[in-house]
Amino acid sequence: MSPPKPSAPFDFVVVGAGSFGSVVANRLSADPATRVLLLEAGPRDDYKWIHVPGGYGRMMFHPELNWRFETEADPGIAGRRNYWPRGKILGGSSALNGLLWVRGQREDFEHWASLGCRGWGWEGVLPHFRATESFADGDPALRGRDGEIGVEAGERHELVDAFLAGARECGIPRAADYNGAEQEGVAYFQINKRQGARQSCSMAFLRPAEKRPNFTVETGARATRLLFEGARCVGLEYEQNGALHEVRAARETILSAGALQPPQLLVLPGIGPAEHLREHGMPVRLDLPGVGENMQDHLQIRLLFRASRPVTNNDLAKSWLGRNSGFTISTLQLRPESRGTVRLGSADPRAAPRMQPNYLARPLDVETSLRGVRRVAAAPSLAACVAGKHAPGRDVQADDEVIHWARSAGATTIFHPAGTCRMGTGPAAVVDERLRVRGVPGLRVADCSVMPMIVSADTNAACIMIGDKCAAMIREDA
Ligand SMILES: Cc1cc2nc3c(=O)[nH]c(=O)nc-3n(C[C@H](O)[C@H](O)[C@H](O)COP(=O)(O)OP(=O)(O)OC[C@H]3O[C@@H](n4cnc5c(N)ncnc54)[C@H](O)[C@@H]3O)c2cc1C
Repeated sequence: MSPPKPSAPFDFVVVGAGSFGSVVANRLSADPATRVLLLEAGPRDDYKWIHVPGGYGRMMFHPELNWRFETEADPGIAGRRNYWPRGKILGGSSALNGLLWVRGQREDFEHWASLGCRGWGWEGVLPHFRATESFADGDPALRGRDGEIGVEAGERHELVDAFLAGARECGIPRAADYNGAEQEGVAYFQINKRQGARQSCSMAFLRPAEKRPNFTVETGARATRLLFEGARCVGLEYEQNGALHEVRAARETILSAGALQPPQLLVLPGIGPAEHLREHGMPVRLDLPGVGENMQDHLQIRLLFRASRPVTNNDLAKSWLGRNSGFTISTLQLRPESRGTVRLGSADPRAAPRMQPNYLARPLDVETSLRGVRRVAAAPSLAACVAGKHAPGRDVQADDEVIHWARSAGATTIFHPAGTCRMGTGPAAVVDERLRVRGVPGLRVADCSVMPMIVSADTNAACIMIGDKCAAMIREDA
């Protein structure tokens, strides 16, 4: 490939147009005097099924719009590999996710603050949740009314009603608004939709920002190498249409490439665990042992039931889905103790990273998963909806049989890898509480890799909150 062509300088260069990158780029470019470049490896989000909430399935294995990662063989799930889809498109994973809008609990963020992340307690994050969402219900002191991301109540369904009734019989309360003061309880999900269409971060944050003359989005543009002057990161090299380009960031470079790729972008120029760098024959620019460590994910145990009546999505969409009426109930350990890693696959920046989740490695995760399975099976109101259990089968009864079934077949990801560039203090922290990479001026990481502990929720809302807070901190620091 010919040497990189230098392009015009920008104040900020943001890598990755996913949930974080879209918000950060929107907020920074709101100042007309600030020149912002956003690089996205994937294409524009023109594919019509992205915008249809039910089009989710069409994106799951799409060869151009999805990175289609696979984990290493994981001993915790009987040596199986998990398929990890990630969005490769404007909007990133928010363009193909399940649309569930769950912030996480007050306690999650208080925990972050207690780990040394000053300013990230509940009072520190709430304004950013409120500023980015638009939800017509709930307590206005806690919920946002005019943010960019539209949130709507989920549609009612008789199977869900039966589930909620079953939960009541088990003594689990109804949560009036699980994104309000109290998360605990059962409720219909709140969904990222506006007037029936998916609200990806691209639709919510990029479309309005793209009208600004100081904002440039480049698609099909894959960042391959960070550039340095001394210790300072001054921009990067990216590949587009087979050519290399070099772009300078007069103020900062921001990595928002999701939990799996920022570690790779750091390790390639020699920022990471010294031992890992040497293993790949790479010089050590900065020994940051936490890069790629602390990976966490939510693992679901999927119980499959045959429905007693034809009321499921399969029945509604009979023409193209299968023959059986069935539904699934998942149980999750929302605060896992197991930790995995993400490592360089090779020194080639185009190679996929190597992910080892280490699922169910800690006893608490196994015990909590088992308790969840037992509790679901005990709910009487569900009985009227169940024609039979599909998985696990009748032969799976004792605790060790349930665990064996979960490890060998029933457990799978719900797509929330996080924590691989953790924020905090001490040697394991990769970024400080202002998301600056420790020891590397001019470089921040702002995506779900910075979570010191995964939120006990789906991760999109928290990603968007962090994006909004990151931009506010950059403005303050200036
Ligand atoms: C199938 C699925 C279902 C999910 N369901 C839900 C849900 O219902 N609710 C919820 O809250 N969360 C859900 N999530 C999780 C949530 O969507 C993600 O946590 C969130 O979108 C992550 O945001 P991010 O900015 O960290 O990464 P992403 O949104 O994945 O963005 C990263 C972006 O960076 C780009 N990129 C990567 N490397 C480079 C590079 N070198 N150069 C340029 N660009 C690059 C990628 O192409 C991508 O666009 C789901 C995720 C998946 C995959």
